[in-house]
Amino acid sequence: MQILDELYSGKAKTVYKTSDPDRLVLKFRDDTSAFDGQKIEKLARKGMVNNLTNAYIMRHLEQAGIPTHFEGLLSDTESVVKRLEMIPVECVVRNIASGSMCRRLGVQDGIDLMPPTFEFFLKNDALHDPMVNEYHIRSFGWATDDEVAVMKRLSFEVNDVLKQRFLESDILLVDFKLEFGRFGGELVLGDEFTADGCRLWDVNTREKLDKDRFRQGLGGVVEAYEAVAARLGIDLAPGQAGA
Ligand code: ADP
Ligand code: UDP
Repeated sequence: MQILDELYSGKAKTVYKTSDPDRLVLKFRDDTSAFDGQKIEKLARKGMVNNLTNAYIMRHLEQAGIPTHFEGLLSDTESVVKRLEMIPVECVVRNIASGSMCRRLGVQDGIDLMPPTFEFFLKNDALHDPMVNEYHIRSFGWATDDEVAVMKRLSFEVNDVLKQRFLESDILLVDFKLEFGRFGGELVLGDEFTADGCRLWDVNTREKLDKDRFRQGLGGVVEAYEAVAARLGIDLAPGQAGA
């Protein structure tokens, strides 16, 4: 399989076409952004750490029966994935209140949400990813009712699997964002699952181990991502591709 021209360059990854029309290469860059791209920095090693962490999580989800786009590692910063027709909504699951939910609803940061809650957002930086509901998704034709049901079911399954996996490593999975896309007749999990798109807290100290360190200027961003990888048992030594 040959890597061809760039299809899209986003805030953190560049997507390349390949000689296989059904496969893409995702290159995880060191670029880190927050506040819809208003704060941007390059953080050394982040691309590598996120690529390898994402590979671990996607394989773990596949083993648990959740369909994903992940096919394999190509290099320390690149992965081969199925080419999906992306659904332009973000699915957010929350186990603990934090971030935009607290600002929006005036609830206290850190309270447990039982049962976990779910929100859809429109993927649109210019509009600051507004929250949308299932009626918007239906009226604007972003996804069918069946697809909405599958996205919710798979998001909660991902939550069950990963909440447990992170807890085994003394990490609380506070919340996370997923993106889905169509492949053949099936909806599969796309994009990435890394500390860039979720909140992870140490179970004992509640220290933040995710992108909030960057958003809030706490420092030690990549060091925290590396600590998460180490706790999950991911080998970050160079040359993991093909492993
Ligand atoms: P953003 O677009 O939010 O700035 P990224 O820099 O992560 O984000 O860019 C990656 C882009 O690739 C995203 O728009 C994402 O929806 C898209 N994408 C992720 N996985 C796939 C896939 N398997 N097929 C097609 N597009 C994908
Ligand atoms: N998130 C994301 N991309 C987005 C918006 C949110 O990955 O464009 C993740 C974010 O990292 C957090 C969860 O989704 O883990 C919920 O984010 P929230 O709505 O609290 O927004 P934020 O605090 O980022 O404004």
